[in-house]
Amino acid sequence: MSSDFFEMEKTSGTARRGRLHTPHAEIETPVFMPVGTVASVKAVPQDTLEDLGAQIILGNTYHLYLRPGVETVRQMGGLHDFMSWRRAILTDSGGFQVFSLNELRKVTEEGVTFRSHLDGSSHFFSPESAMEAQIGLGADIIMAFDECTEYPADPARVRASLELTARWAARSKKYFQEHKHEVPWKSSSQSSALGRQDTQTPRFARSDNDGAAQRGDGEENTNGWQLGTDNWQLLFGIVQGGMDRNLRKESAERTIEIGFPGYAIGGLSVGEPRQLTREIVESTLEHLPKDKPRYLMGVGTPEEIAEYANLGVDMMDCVLPTRAARHGLLFTSEGKISIKQARYAQDRGPLDPNCECRVCQRYSRAYLRHLYAANEVLAQVLNTIHNLSFYLDTMQRVRHSISLGE
Ligand SMILES: [Zn+2]
Repeated sequence: MSSDFFEMEKTSGTARRGRLHTPHAEIETPVFMPVGTVASVKAVPQDTLEDLGAQIILGNTYHLYLRPGVETVRQMGGLHDFMSWRRAILTDSGGFQVFSLNELRKVTEEGVTFRSHLDGSSHFFSPESAMEAQIGLGADIIMAFDECTEYPADPARVRASLELTARWAARSKKYFQEHKHEVPWKSSSQSSALGRQDTQTPRFARSDNDGAAQRGDGEENTNGWQLGTDNWQLLFGIVQGGMDRNLRKESAERTIEIGFPGYAIGGLSVGEPRQLTREIVESTLEHLPKDKPRYLMGVGTPEEIAEYANLGVDMMDCVLPTRAARHGLLFTSEGKISIKQARYAQDRGPLDPNCECRVCQRYSRAYLRHLYAANEVLAQVLNTIHNLSFYLDTMQRVRHSISLGE
């Protein structure tokens, strides 16, 4: 039940523990991916992210396309070199932000015209231009351009949207296959130009010829994905289909038919009740290949990410730990804490007595509360470090439980 870039190590019920090989790093799954919208996980330096054990972080194509611009990042050798992050990166396609940040967008078969939230200038994303941008940014994992179906939506609208997403997925894959060699870290040797220590060399580097020799199966050949996948960016497809189980099934089947090395479940956490999110995740997972990584986009609380991992999701991302931290909302083993509350003003205890992060080891609740009340930048830094640590530790525990067969 493994492919050459995704090894399944252990399953327990529906949960899976595995290892995903990307060009820059090996990722233990299930994994939580901190969100680094504009090539920065807000308030946290890269070396701290490494210390916290983050194996992969997210970048948002929409934001990076607008600022600093794809060409600037490409000239700097790609996102990894630009932000000095030697581990893995995933970029989204830009679709979600185009749909969520732009009320004046115009969708056609060709793509989406939208206005920049920064200066109101007009831009156009198509499957081809979204791929071009993501190849230029050079993340390890990139996403097909999709339409994130709004909620609620009537069945006819959901169907039309999933069909558009399927056509866009095919165009995304076609463009990627024709242009994947343009990724900055493959087309030049500038990645080592700054003399940085590269401790994350690809472990499974293999020539295209070797990959082809191991295939020999016509059907796999049609899907075309085994060839040197560990060397190139991995392009994932996205399943849509709104809140309708049958349409989710159909979207999954059509995306799988196009063929991708991994599959994402998109279009959730868009305002629907949490119980519905869970039901749709569970039913969609049944239709996804067991030997490919499954990525649930944009969820959730610590309890939810553990629950989704137990359902068989391999990868998740969410802005919640970082965004909540900046608002003084902290996740702990004893529940959620709002550090601004007066009751913590003289509390000598750690934020979370069961957390081993550097913040809980060193600072008191009273000090964290003071920093927040005084609007100190350090409050954002420390709060974010703790919340990320809590999320990453939650996933570590889930991986451990799966190994133990619990
Ligand atoms: Zn902590």
